[in-house]
Amino acid sequence: MRILISLVSSSTSTGLHLLSVSRRLHTKISPFSTLIGLKPPPAMATSEDSLRRSLAEKQSSIESQGNTVRALKAANAEKATVDEAIEKLNALKLDKSVMEKQLQAAVNGNGPDGSINKEAFRQAVVNTLERRLFYIPSFKIYRGVAGLYDYGPPGCAVKSNVLSFWRQHFVLEENMLEVDCPCVTPEAVLKASGHVDKFTDLMVKDEKTGTCYRADHLLKDFCNEKIQKDLSISAEKAAELKHVLAMLDDLSAEELGAKIKEYGITAPDTKNPLSDPYPFNLMFQTSIGPSGLSPGYMRPETAQGIFVNFKDLYYYNGNKLPFAAAQIGQAFRNEISPRQGLLRVREFTLAEIEHFVDPEYKSHPKYSEVADLEFLMFPREQQISAQSAKKIQLGEAVSKGIVNNETLGYFIGRVYLFLTRLGIDKDRLRFRQHLANEMAHYAADCWDAEIESSYGWIECVGIADRSAYDLHAHTEKSGVPLVAHEKFSEPKEVEKLVIAPVKKELGLAFKGNQKKVVEALEAMNEKEALDMKASLETKGVVEFYVCTLGENVSIKKNMVSISKEKKKEHQRTFTPSVIEPSFGIGRIIYCLYEHSFLHEAQ
Ligand code: AMP
Repeated sequence: MRILISLVSSSTSTGLHLLSVSRRLHTKISPFSTLIGLKPPPAMATSEDSLRRSLAEKQSSIESQGNTVRALKAANAEKATVDEAIEKLNALKLDKSVMEKQLQAAVNGNGPDGSINKEAFRQAVVNTLERRLFYIPSFKIYRGVAGLYDYGPPGCAVKSNVLSFWRQHFVLEENMLEVDCPCVTPEAVLKASGHVDKFTDLMVKDEKTGTCYRADHLLKDFCNEKIQKDLSISAEKAAELKHVLAMLDDLSAEELGAKIKEYGITAPDTKNPLSDPYPFNLMFQTSIGPSGLSPGYMRPETAQGIFVNFKDLYYYNGNKLPFAAAQIGQAFRNEISPRQGLLRVREFTLAEIEHFVDPEYKSHPKYSEVADLEFLMFPREQQISAQSAKKIQLGEAVSKGIVNNETLGYFIGRVYLFLTRLGIDKDRLRFRQHLANEMAHYAADCWDAEIESSYGWIECVGIADRSAYDLHAHTEKSGVPLVAHEKFSEPKEVEKLVIAPVKKELGLAFKGNQKKVVEALEAMNEKEALDMKASLETKGVVEFYVCTLGENVSIKKNMVSISKEKKKEHQRTFTPSVIEPSFGIGRIIYCLYEHSFLHEAQ
């Protein structure tokens, strides 16, 4: 199998040590069987729905047979007739109990032979990982801190090999420009990127004790528990709960709150009522320097370090597009209630790529190398209509417009190759498209590489076309134009809208607010500007809404000149779009462990 063997055993003495440790210690659970065994826990049975329906039918047959027995007894029927009816009732009950066992096995993910279920499998994996020091709960002797983990010797060896394969597969093979930026980031950067205002998760509080929980996790747990443990719910109810699970990331705070109320969900530890969901910012705040006057944050992603360096990187690349920059580094997120071991932590390694491309030419020169790949894809439409992921050829997905553009498709293909070459089981890897609300408003399209583990399908890589949002935002806030140019072979004559605010007149009229009015006038799009021009010519004055002031101001004819002028242009200046694959290294490694784990009982 799999690159992981060579990764783990490659060059480093630590890697070799990892193999010898595995061979020396023989325990009931073979740890990764020197990383060559592969037997995943069986996938959820597909017959779950029909089993629920048959179980409901069996239950109603039992009730009606029970009535028959009672009626026969009440009518003092012959003993033989009553006995026959009772025997039939008992047979039905026996059938029901067999069906319940089958359904329980199906929802637990047990194999038809009753082999290990998901939780037992996970326990075996986690016990081995912790015992062999693949990872260690951080600060353990002080009882640890939720969401913080150390990597022990074999964990470090695996991580270092995964990262070096990542560098090989992406940075070297694609000639990417690697950078390494600080974790401590000044507030201005994260204010511009939107993280200070919007990097939030929805939280609910136990109304009596104040304990915090992630609202969507409580709803998810409720639905999963009902589906897995309550065998009496109808197939329709199970389908409804599964639909809620599929739409979970798409729910607004109000919709989440309404579902929590509808299902009567309470605080898991105390059963106390819960508050309405409200946003909690996930960034760790700090202050830079001793004065306390310079606020900063531990970066929640590495991407912003690349965006703020765009101008220099573009120059370094000979002022040519497309090009990609890459960064590997720590990211920090103050998760509300971290759980699921290595999958949701408060500090983790991210490996991110920002591929800058002309928004008008999103083709990719190496696209044909991945277009024939075929793998599990889960487009938005399939999720909404409660279907499951199916195998689609990447080229077909791009040509049909399911995937927004070639460059995004290229990276989806490259991520697929990276993960499967690393050792991820291709049948337990799918690419899921973001639902409409799940996606940031500026994004053109987003796909997550999700890997199936004992915790379910886990997002391990996010691949997003973020359009020109980030470079625009930093251009606006820093005043430094983060733009690219396309030089024309011959000058082109273009008609340009020119908005020229007359600052003297605006200053006299609006005094201290002059700057905000000027900015708002300059920010008008072509239609708004031409409408204003027409109104000024007919009426001499227009009411104009300035959003930064939150009010209308009266603009007179002498305050702004709006015209269309013909110009010769030698180049086109534009803000590049960015395609961003973002890899959670810890999550990938954990899934790799599960996919490589061999349970001796199997
Ligand atoms: P995001 O920027 O939220 O799309 O995250 C990028 C990647 O980081 C995800 O695909 C995950 O693999 C990983 N990730 C996000 N949050 C966490 C976390 N709390 N713990 C570990 N990995 C994470």
